Amino acid sequence: MNTTLTSKLAFLGNQQETLFSEAFKVRQKYFGTEVYPRGVIEISNHCLLNCHYCGMRKNNSNLKRYRMQVDEIMSQAHLMADHGVKSIMLQSGDDYQFQISELKNIVKTIKTETNLHIILCLGERKKTDFETLLLSGANMYILKLETMNPKLFAEVRPETTFERRLDKLKFLKNIGFEVSSGFIIGLPGQTLDELIDGIYLLKELGVENASVSPFIPNQDSPLNNYEPGNINIALNMIALMRIILGKVNIPSVSAFSMLNDEGQLRAFEAGANVLTINFSPLKNLEKYLIYDKKRAIVNLEYAKMLIKNSKLDCSILQSKITERLAQTTIA
Ligand code: SAH
Repeated sequence: MNTTLTSKLAFLGNQQETLFSEAFKVRQKYFGTEVYPRGVIEISNHCLLNCHYCGMRKNNSNLKRYRMQVDEIMSQAHLMADHGVKSIMLQSGDDYQFQISELKNIVKTIKTETNLHIILCLGERKKTDFETLLLSGANMYILKLETMNPKLFAEVRPETTFERRLDKLKFLKNIGFEVSSGFIIGLPGQTLDELIDGIYLLKELGVENASVSPFIPNQDSPLNNYEPGNINIALNMIALMRIILGKVNIPSVSAFSMLNDEGQLRAFEAGANVLTINFSPLKNLEKYLIYDKKRAIVNLEYAKMLIKNSKLDCSILQSKITERLAQTTIA
């Protein structure tokens, strides 16, 4: 246990500013003033799991389910490429009925038609599926460990185990995927010590991307009555990840905006260097509810405002909001 680091997670005021400026220097050393733009499309909200924190869980009958087709996805992928986005991220529930042949086709088509860097966040699929997706042209796979405490993990993700998720993450890395992992900050019963252990595990695994989001209670989930995660602990976690992990990509996620209007700006100040912009078609947005009914949607317009306010640079600043973009993604 590292008491000094654990106490830094609770920093506020001047101590927090000093921590952020140390982290920001590391960020600048590797990435200058650039923010790396990612576009996310939430391709399916079907899920076979019942994670206690997530609104997409199988037993949530209040959610209208959808699964996107290749043409619809491609239309959004081209839109992203046209607006200076560099990476496309496809996210979904653990939807194993989304056939691997279909996913393979989607990944191949994106690669051929846009040459975007492809990130997948599709849950714990079979190892052979991971191999197929890598061979089809996918570059990075996101599998967050969510919590380092195996007992808590088993409670909040009843159908899965920490060991199996970690094993799949290692498998993804071994076969040649860039990998991303991280934690939800503020799950009931989580400790600060485990978060520091988590940073060191990410270091050991050699992840290319590390991500944390504060816990946001979802109305239709068993954890609905719990308090949201502490935003300052989540921000301090970003700063410590930046200092300890050095040159990894760290996103400033929309959950920060849900807790505080300045939340995502503060995440940049704490050392984040990636912004995920939502390119899901408007009609799907209200159905993809991992967090809360009042989602904070980082559309292109909001993203531009955020970057301008952060005084950082980003390739999306050159793009024009076209009529078609306005029709499909501006909420
Ligand atoms: N089914 C996939 C993708 C889930 S959504 C998977 O399990 O990997 C992507 C991420 O959203 C999750 O990994 C989790 O870290 C985060 N998430 C889900 N519900 C959340 C909540 N209520 N608060 C904060 N983060 C949440």
